[in-house]
Amino acid sequence: MISPASINNDQLLYSLFEFNPHAITVINRKGQFIKVNIAARELSGYTEEELHGSPFEKVIMQEEHKKVLAYSQRAFNGVLQTFETAFVHKEGYRIDLSATVVPVRDSVRVQSLVVILQDITISKRSLERIKFMAHYDDMTGIPNRRFFRDHLESALQIALNSNSNLAVFYLDIDRFKLYNDSFGHDVGNMLLMQVAERLMRCVSEGDVAARMEGDEFAIFYTDIVGIENVEKLAKQIYQQLEQPFQYQGYDLHITVSIGISMNTNRQISADEIMKNADIALSKAKEMGRNTSQFYTISMEQSTLDRLKLETDLRLAIQRDEFELYYQPQVDIFTGEIIGMESLIRWNHPLKGIVAPDSFIPLLEECGLIIPVGEKVIEWACRQNVAWQNEGLPKFPIAVNLSVKQFLQPGIVDRIRDILLETSLEPGYLELEITESVTLDVEYAENILNDLQRLGVLISIDDFGTGYSSLRYLKRFPISRLKIDRSFVRDIMVDQNDAQIVQTIIAMARHLNMNVIAEGVETEEQLNYLRRHQCMEIQGYYISRPLPVQAITKWMGEWEPTHISGDLS
Ligand code: C2E
Ligand code: CA
Ligand code: CA
Repeated sequence: MISPASINNDQLLYSLFEFNPHAITVINRKGQFIKVNIAARELSGYTEEELHGSPFEKVIMQEEHKKVLAYSQRAFNGVLQTFETAFVHKEGYRIDLSATVVPVRDSVRVQSLVVILQDITISKRSLERIKFMAHYDDMTGIPNRRFFRDHLESALQIALNSNSNLAVFYLDIDRFKLYNDSFGHDVGNMLLMQVAERLMRCVSEGDVAARMEGDEFAIFYTDIVGIENVEKLAKQIYQQLEQPFQYQGYDLHITVSIGISMNTNRQISADEIMKNADIALSKAKEMGRNTSQFYTISMEQSTLDRLKLETDLRLAIQRDEFELYYQPQVDIFTGEIIGMESLIRWNHPLKGIVAPDSFIPLLEECGLIIPVGEKVIEWACRQNVAWQNEGLPKFPIAVNLSVKQFLQPGIVDRIRDILLETSLEPGYLELEITESVTLDVEYAENILNDLQRLGVLISIDDFGTGYSSLRYLKRFPISRLKIDRSFVRDIMVDQNDAQIVQTIIAMARHLNMNVIAEGVETEEQLNYLRRHQCMEIQGYYISRPLPVQAITKWMGEWEPTHISGDLS
C-alpha cells in the first residue's frame, strides 16, 4: 500500500488534471491556452501543440466570443463563473458546453483561469427535441395545436394593434374514416402526411398551418384584405388538394370541408376564433361537404339550439313524450285497409306536437335512436295485437328503421324478442328500410335474410331517391317498394316524375315485389296510379297520420267504396 506521504503533490495535481474525465484547460491573462488536458483535446479534436498559445477565440463559436470574454473578465476579477457556451470542433461541428471558470490567483492577482468543460450537446438536443415534440405534430412534422394556438394569440394581438385582419381556416377531410377503414391505416397516415405537406405550400411568412388532431387541420392567414382575399385563399387550398393522391398505383381523390372565422377588427381570443372556425366547419359538413363556410353568429345560435334540443330529447325519453301516429295504406282497387305505417311524434310540453324530421336526425347523431327505435317497434307491435284482439281486420304495421338501428349488432335478436314479448305474429310486422342500408351489400343481405327467416316483412322506403345498388335489389328479400312522395307529388305536372313512377312500378312487378305510392293527396294522382297498375296507396287523400284513438275511429268509419270508382 502506498502511504499518502509517498505521493508527490505535483504528481497528484498533474494526474488529476491530465486524466480528469472533464475537459480542463488553463488560460492566461491574455486569453491564451497554456494547458489542455487529454479530455479537452479529445473533445475539441486539436492537439496540445495546436492549442498551446492560441487565443481561446480559436475554438469558441463566433457568436459566443463577446459573452465568453465578459465571463472571463469577471473571473479575472476573482469571481468563479459558470455559464453555457459552445465551441467548434476541429472538424467543424458545434459542441455545446457547460463551463465552470475558476480564478487562480497568486499573492497579487488572478494570473490564470482553470476552465472545466462539460459536453452538454446530447442533453441540449434532447431538450430541443422535447420542445419540438411539444410544438410539432409527430406524424406530419408540421406545427401542432399548441404551436398554432400560441402563434395565433400573438398574431391576433399584432392584428389588433395594426388594425389588420386575420382569418382562421379549419379543415377536415371528408369521409376520412372511410379511407382509413377501407384501405387501412397506412393509407390514412399517408393521406394525412401528404395533406399536411400540401397545406404547407398554401402558407407564406407570418401564416401558420397546423395539424389539430385526427384529420383536422388549421391555417391562419395574416394581413387579410377583404372577403375576396379569403375566398382566393380557400380556392388555393381546394386547388392544392384537387390533384389525386397516389397510393400503390391507386389514385385517391379527397375533398375537404372548411370553416372560416375572422377577427374583423375586434378583440377576440385565439380560443374563441378557433371555436368559431370549428362551428363554421360543422356547418360546412352539414351543407354536404366539399364546401367552405364563413362563421356567423346565427351558427352559434343553431349549435346552442342543438345542444338544448339534445337535452330536451333525453328528457323526452324519461318523461315518455314520444307517441306513435298511424297512417293507413289501402288497396287501390278494393279499397281495403292493407296496412298502417307508424310515424313517431314528440309531444313537447311547450311546442306541442313536433314532427320527426326535426328530431330524428339528432336522435341518430347522438345514438338515442337505438333505445327510441326499440320502443317504437314495441309500441307498434302492441298496438297491432290490441287491434287484432278487438276483432279488427288483420294487417301488418310498418315501422321505420333508421340505418343506425339496422346496423346495430343484434338487431335481429332484439326484434325477435319484441315479437315474443308482445305475442305478435311476425308476418304482421313490416320494417321500412332505406336504400342507404344496402350500401354494404354483403352485410345487408345477411341481416335481411335473417329477418326474412324470422318472418317479418321488409320494404324499401323513399324508393327512387337514394342510389341503391339496383343490381343487388333482386338478391334482397324485399316484399315491397315505396315510391317516394316527391315523385308522386308532381306526377300530373312533371313528365319525368311520371316516367320514374311508371318505371318503378314496372320494375317492382318484374322483381315480384309489391309497390305502394306514398303521399297521394288528390283524386287525379290516385286515378293516374290506378291506370298504371300501382296497387297500393298511402297519403292524405286517404287519411293523415292520426293518434291511436282517432285512427281507430277512422277505421270504424272507413268504407272501401270511398275510393272505388274510375277504373278506366
Ligand atoms: P317517411 O317514412 O317517408 O314517412 C312518410 C311521411 O310523409 C310522414 O311524415 C307522413 O306524415 C308524410 N305524408 C304521408 N302522406 C302524405 C301526403 O299525402 N302528403 C304529404 N305532403 N306528406 C304525407 P312524418 O310523419 O313527418 O315523418 C317524416 C319522416 O320521419 C318519415 O318519412 C320517416 O323517415 C321518419 N320517421 C317517422 N317515424 C319514424 C320512426 O319511428 N323511426 C324512424 N327511424 N324514422 C321515423
Ligand atoms: Ca316510411
Ligand atoms: Ca317514405
